[in-house]
This record gives sequence, C-alpha cells and structure tokens, in this order.
Amino acid sequence: MKVQVNRTYNFNAGPSALPITVLEKAQQELIDFRGTGMSVMELSHRSKPYEEVHNQAIDSLRELLSIPDNYEVLFLQGGASLQFSMIPMNFLQPGKQAAYVMTGSWSEKAFTEAKLFGEVYHSASTKEGKYRSIPKVEELQFKNEDAYLHITSNNTIYGTQWKEYPNTGEVPLIADMSSDILSKPIDVSKFALIYAGAQKNLGPSGVTVVIIRKDLLAQANTNIPTMLKYGTHAKNNSLYNTPPTFGIYMLGEVLNWARELGGLKAISELNDKKANLIYDAIDSSNGFYIGHAEKDSRSLMNITFNLKTEELEKRFLAQAKLEGFVGVNGHRSVGGCRVSTYNAVPFEACKAFSEFMIQFQKENN
Ligand code: PMP
Repeated sequence: MKVQVNRTYNFNAGPSALPITVLEKAQQELIDFRGTGMSVMELSHRSKPYEEVHNQAIDSLRELLSIPDNYEVLFLQGGASLQFSMIPMNFLQPGKQAAYVMTGSWSEKAFTEAKLFGEVYHSASTKEGKYRSIPKVEELQFKNEDAYLHITSNNTIYGTQWKEYPNTGEVPLIADMSSDILSKPIDVSKFALIYAGAQKNLGPSGVTVVIIRKDLLAQANTNIPTMLKYGTHAKNNSLYNTPPTFGIYMLGEVLNWARELGGLKAISELNDKKANLIYDAIDSSNGFYIGHAEKDSRSLMNITFNLKTEELEKRFLAQAKLEGFVGVNGHRSVGGCRVSTYNAVPFEACKAFSEFMIQFQKENN
C-alpha cells in the first residue's frame, strides 16, 4: 500500500510530506549544485549562485500569491513561534491595544506572547465550543485605533479554517497562515502581515516566511533588538545574517513544483477533492466517525475526528499504523485522530486512507 517504492503515506502535521520530484531534484543536485562543485549548503550566502536561489524563491512566492509591490517578502528563522513575539514587539505601540481572535492553541500562544509587550484583548473566541468553529466575521470586535487584529487562518490542532477573512479597514490584519499558506489563492492586499513556518506547505522546517506591507513596516517600534526588527531583514533582503540557505533552496523548488501543478487555483481544487474523500467517509459513517470541526469551519488541511469509544480509537490508530499510514494520531494536547492533507500529500494517499476508514468501519461496526 505504498505510493512509490519506499515512500509512505505521510499524514504528518508538520514537518510533513514534500513533493517527491522536489526531493529527487535536491538529491541530484546535492553534491554538485549546478556546476559549482559544492552543495547548496556549502555555498557562501553572499555568492552569486546562492543569491540566484534566494531571489528566485522570493520572486516565485510573489508570483504564486500575486503579492503586490507594496509588500516585502522576508525569510526569517525562529519558526512561526518567534513571530508570536516579533509582531507585538514591532507593532504594539505604547497606549494602543491589539485584538486577537482565539480559534485554538496557536492563537492562545500568540496571545500569551503579545501580553508580555502590551495591552491585548480577545476579539472573539470559540474556546467554549471546544474550538470546533471559526467565529463569523461580523462577530469580531475591534476598534479603529487598535494596533492590529490577529487571526490564525487554519487551526492545525483543531482542524478548522477561515473561509472568509474580515475587512478590518484601517486596522492592520495579521494572519498566522502556517498551516494553509499556498493551499488556495488569497487576496494578499487584505492583510498587513502574513507569516508562516515553512514546514507544512512550503518546504522543510527552519524557514519562516513573512509577507509585510511597507507602510506597516514604517510604523514599527525602534527600541528592539536588531535581529527582531522586521526592518533589519527588509533592508537587507533577508541577508542581514546567514539565512537557512538549504531550506530556502528547498522552498524555491517547492514553489516551482506548485507553479508546474498549475498554481494555487489548481492546487486548491485538488486539496478540496482530497479532503472531501475523508470528510465523506466521516459523514457517511452514521456516527462511527465523529468529525471535530463544525461543517462550515472544516479545514481542508487538517481533518480531525474521533471514534465512538477510546478503545475503538486505539484499535483504529494501531491498524492505520500497520497499514502504513503515518501521522494519524491527533495532537498530543487533544488526542483523537488527525489527517493532514497538505499540498504535497498525493490524492492517492487520501483515497487509500478513505478506503481504509470504510473498511475498518465494516469490520468493527
Ligand atoms: N502556528 C500554527 C498554525 C502552527 O500549526 C504551528 C506549528 N504547528 C505554529 C504556529 C508554530 O510553528 P513553529 O513550530 O514553526 O514555531
């Protein structure tokens, strides 16, 4: 039951599956990168061949996401988790407040960090409903003078995703898109800042992508360490210090692959089909599988569900493992089952898993 020889059905939540063609290309180029006689990892980050890799990755991201010219694209380190601190450090000015929409554990972490730097409040929260849903955009509270409004576009742990983004007017909208960036077309101009750890849809861990509007950049606080200022990285094309060169190279190759697939519209249609195979298995199971997310908030990236009893769930997870499906356990904080169907997870893997769910139900009903 393998997609390719020695390739497993990888449903990990991140780091997660990478396109096989990208891995093969990296393998081919590993020892002698384009005639340099060196690996990409051995090139100076100030050298011409690396500069090309770096700038091409930025250009490809700009093209795929149709990023307008008044935005900078940055490649940072420290994961999405460091963004939880950098955002308030840079943009939560004294005397202002920032609003956070609470839709899961990652929003909670972002909020907790921001509290260290200034005044923050909940714009809305679905915690009481066990984070099964995304609040309606009309229900969000924020004030025109707020420093920003923060959302988590896809909740990796609870399996919910925003289908529509709020119009925040003058208030900068900031989004943690770690687990759904590049999964569908988005209107970047709605956002003042988008950030994402690369290790789900973009490449290997170690690179964090930040897309930031220049006017927001210009308003940043100045009394913060050099490395934690967005301005430092923007001024230096993300080459102020040594960037994660291999990760950026891989990111560039993942972007080339995404372009060859037909871009974000084609990717989004495929993601829809992949996730729906598994949601259909849940919905047609007569309660054997119980989806966690409310239907109108379902994520097309992380599908979360439970079985009727803990005992059955354990058996399901053990059987899935035996059949070669990796990463089906829910996040350690919530348990249950979670299948991550990011861009690079093949349709065949989702099909095989949905068939496994149906078969397991037949045998254990
Ligand atoms: N935000 C979201 C939505 C995530 O899914 C994750 C990681 N799974 C993070 C933030 C934290 O990312 P990192 O590990 O890159 O710091």
